[in-house]
Amino acid sequence: MPNLLYDALFSPLAERDTPFLHLAQGQTISGRTFHDLVLHFAAALQAIGLAPGDRLAMQAAKSPEALALYGAAVAAGVVFLPLNTAYTADEVAYFVENSGARLLLGDSANAATLQPVAQRTGARFHTLDADGSGSFSSFAQEAKHRFTPVDLGEDDLAAFLYTSGTTGRSKGAMLTQGNLLSNAEVLVREWRFTADDVLLHALPIFHTHGLFVASNVVLLSGGSMNFLPSFTIESVLSALPQATSMMGVPTFYTRLLDEPRFDRALVQHMRLFTSGSAPLLAETHTAFEKRTGHKILERYGMTETNMNTSNPYEGDRRPGTVGLPLPGVELKITDPATGEALPQGEAGMIEVRGPNVFKGYWQMPEKTREELRDDGFFITGDIGQIDADGYVSIVGRQKDLIITGGYNVYPKEIELIIDEQPGVLESAVIGLPHPDFGEAVACVVVPEKGAALDPDALGASIRTRMARFKQPKAIFVVDALPRNTMGKVQKNVLRETYKAQFA
Ligand code: ATP
Ligand code: MG
Repeated sequence: MPNLLYDALFSPLAERDTPFLHLAQGQTISGRTFHDLVLHFAAALQAIGLAPGDRLAMQAAKSPEALALYGAAVAAGVVFLPLNTAYTADEVAYFVENSGARLLLGDSANAATLQPVAQRTGARFHTLDADGSGSFSSFAQEAKHRFTPVDLGEDDLAAFLYTSGTTGRSKGAMLTQGNLLSNAEVLVREWRFTADDVLLHALPIFHTHGLFVASNVVLLSGGSMNFLPSFTIESVLSALPQATSMMGVPTFYTRLLDEPRFDRALVQHMRLFTSGSAPLLAETHTAFEKRTGHKILERYGMTETNMNTSNPYEGDRRPGTVGLPLPGVELKITDPATGEALPQGEAGMIEVRGPNVFKGYWQMPEKTREELRDDGFFITGDIGQIDADGYVSIVGRQKDLIITGGYNVYPKEIELIIDEQPGVLESAVIGLPHPDFGEAVACVVVPEKGAALDPDALGASIRTRMARFKQPKAIFVVDALPRNTMGKVQKNVLRETYKAQFA
């Protein structure tokens, strides 16, 4: 019986005796062993009483077992809901309750706080630890039932993936088997993944980047991965010689560039580095090319849509852009107020349509109606523009738009000017409550290593470059910008920190 996603991604592992996962200290897990684990876990889910359509919430460290649970959920038709390992028990409670999960898997170190969460919401609780052990694995081993993947197709749900919560409360994006498979197929083709690839995987697997973009591409192409528990300089340096490709968030690349041992010789054999989840500074792109000879391929996507655009594998990879719409993805720029398409070159709302676009937010019909149009276009909340060659640039997020004295200010425009100033590493422009202007433009800057930044001098030198209403009314110098695990700058944290500046 067919199960679209399982058949494409996991079934081929059954016949594979070569490594699928390369772990620390030279250990490997073959395709066959991983596949057995997937089916054992699927049988355990069924034995626990989960039926197709039920939800499984998991807050577990990255491990082969945690990844196998994704496969097990796909095989059993159970909707997979991986949760950020940084969430507190209260936060987990929201997701378990909101999703109506029937089973919660968590680390035994957190059992004391997670078990009551499960009890309260009527979910079962099992442990899954960083080394793969725990009550769930024991149960699966004892049960050892045979399992036949359930029959599922394109429109059946595969996951509720919660968004990162950068702009507000996380929303559960309902993703179907068809959403995931269509995107994986496109990315394998566009980025030329084959069975010879070894992907250096240092991303978390509770987010679309590490779980779907990275893992699905490797599974579909028949390649393998260096499956690192997390990103550390040491583990990445030692895995790079065996890898052919790496997917990262921008902070991976800035951290590698800070490391003198990271040099051209170490990565000469690599064929691809990709970046996404947050903007890659053009400066990082250039510095990386200078150091290694490789041009990082930047792409753009989101939880709700998987990947939307990508710089080309062959052809011009343009720093500061997220490339061209992927095959099958329609992308347009519209007036945020009217929804009308804007002339080429103008900045506006990025809207996308295609087989990659999700089915809506779980139990949020109003939010779904606001963001997902009847004609299938999804209103991303990202402001962007398309140049004459079709390359898309992201100008910022609509929620970060500053309205000061009635004028619209896009932070990115100002950040780019500030970032060019001598001694500036990076910056974040935010709006702060202001009694006269509604919001005032303010800027938080990080100096380059060893540079001393004088806020007044900086203010004076950028003043000539922009209209008066765009000029920052306050400049704060800090050592680092607050970022979440995906490297996204948390502007909400900055707005909170400095909210009383003009009050
Ligand atoms: P929430 O929707 O809960 O506020 P979030 O949008 O940060 O959180 P994700 O789905 O993880 O949650 O992230 C998608 C967003 O990440 C995109 O909408 C976009 O703003 C940003 N993004 C992804 N790739 C890039 C990129 N290459 N350059 C700039 N921004 C990017
Ligand atoms: Mg979002």
